[in-house]
Amino acid sequence: MANRSPAIKHTKLFINNEWIEAESGRTFQTIDPATENVIANISEADKADVDKAVSAALKAFARDAPWRTMDASSRALLMNKLADLIERDINHIASLESLDNGKTFANAVLDVQGSVAVIRHYAGWCDKIHGNTIPADGNHFSLTRKEPVGVVGQIIPWNYPLAMLSWKWGPALAAGCTIVLKPAEQTPLTALYVASLVQEAGFPAGVINVLPGYGPTAGAAIAEHPDINKVAFTGSTEVGHLIMAAAAKTNLKRVSLELGGKSPLVIFDDFDVNEAADIAHAALFDNHGQSCCAGSRTYVQAGIYDAFVARAKELAIQRKVGDPFGSDVVQGPQIDKDQLDKITALVESGKQQGATVQTGGARHGNVGFFFQPTVFSNVTDDMRIAKEEIFGPVQSIFKFNTLEEVIKRANNTTYGLAAGVLTNDINKALTFAKAVQAGSVWINCYDGITPQTPFGGYKKSGIGRELGEDGLHDYLEVKTITIKTPTKN
Ligand code: ADP
Ligand code: MG
Repeated sequence: MANRSPAIKHTKLFINNEWIEAESGRTFQTIDPATENVIANISEADKADVDKAVSAALKAFARDAPWRTMDASSRALLMNKLADLIERDINHIASLESLDNGKTFANAVLDVQGSVAVIRHYAGWCDKIHGNTIPADGNHFSLTRKEPVGVVGQIIPWNYPLAMLSWKWGPALAAGCTIVLKPAEQTPLTALYVASLVQEAGFPAGVINVLPGYGPTAGAAIAEHPDINKVAFTGSTEVGHLIMAAAAKTNLKRVSLELGGKSPLVIFDDFDVNEAADIAHAALFDNHGQSCCAGSRTYVQAGIYDAFVARAKELAIQRKVGDPFGSDVVQGPQIDKDQLDKITALVESGKQQGATVQTGGARHGNVGFFFQPTVFSNVTDDMRIAKEEIFGPVQSIFKFNTLEEVIKRANNTTYGLAAGVLTNDINKALTFAKAVQAGSVWINCYDGITPQTPFGGYKKSGIGRELGEDGLHDYLEVKTITIKTPTKN
């Protein structure tokens, strides 16, 4: 099952179905965030390696290349084979993920299962992507074809390394694109392992390339590359701006962005307070708060506010923090020192600005990047902890009175990724769901993310959608073919 010392078999760049060193010969360390020990030295890709990978991906995308001439249904078989191999090696992959990222082994297993489901979902789309026939004006017969956009660059974060890979690869492969993926520098291990399964599944060389490296070097080279037709990015809003600017300055490559959030979870006083506390707890603390759609603004109606805060505090105190491979542990370390410092600074600002610390509020231990499960009550909308993404195990609880008031307050943010509402009153739930500016709204649940349902942001939470049928659109061009006909209609 779980293995705290999984074999690290792959540390080089994966280009054209081969394992190669970086041109520069440089490597970087990936760190176990629970112990701060070095796990492995990984080849560090830079612009020269990105160029090499893009050449391989371009070649794999040529009109007469195997990837372009195979039936769509054969692409589906390859994707399903990859999903089967990932499933076969689930314990090894989850062990790598848990070691590299710090998430609990149990959660890593769920991530791998979710990734398999996403790849299978998109395998099913391969031979179901088709255009329209159109009753055009005049002596014309028109039809549309959906064609792959070409070589795509994919830059992913460290919080859900394998899951983010699957969200990117699924639609790109179903559409028939070829891929240059850069995993986050903090978490390269699962992407590299899964690259070995790409080879084993029998994908043609160059269809998938995996290049670990840093953002401002390898990531920027992807965003700027003239032969990459589309870049898909998940990460911070700050870097999202850079990616879009790079696309604008170079070849106007298509851009999809999944960025930060400050998602409201609104709880009305007709809802069971204990169930509400459970849902809100998971909405924030899952993955140690390192989730772009974390329910990081918990709005509770006045009638149940005090009871809710008491229960939220109990739940946070019960949370066992420790080694992610420990059997009863539910919270491992944050990803790195930078994140720990950022969380600490924001928590200090919350204290200074007058929020009440119910529990937690500081680093946990001295070794590893652990932070205490923290609950703030009496949070007001003007505080930094109400506005800025904390990305840590810090729950902020606000009080509200009316539906109209909470709609305004929920929308008073530059973000718009997700929202939740808990109430037994269908009219309140639907009024809120329609009024809130967010890409996903969950009613009487939270984090209801499935392979079939589109996910993405309003406002500064992003551009485009991932998952489901909508997730395919960003990887497809629409070509209109019009034929002259002898008669009208
Ligand atoms: P976080 O702050 O949570 O680490 P980032 O947005 O910095 O999130 O990182 C997400 C991904 O974006 C990572 O793979 C990272 O290497 C990459 N990245 C960071 N800076 C840049 C950049 N300037 N250009 C392209 N990619 C970048
Ligand atoms: Mg690491």
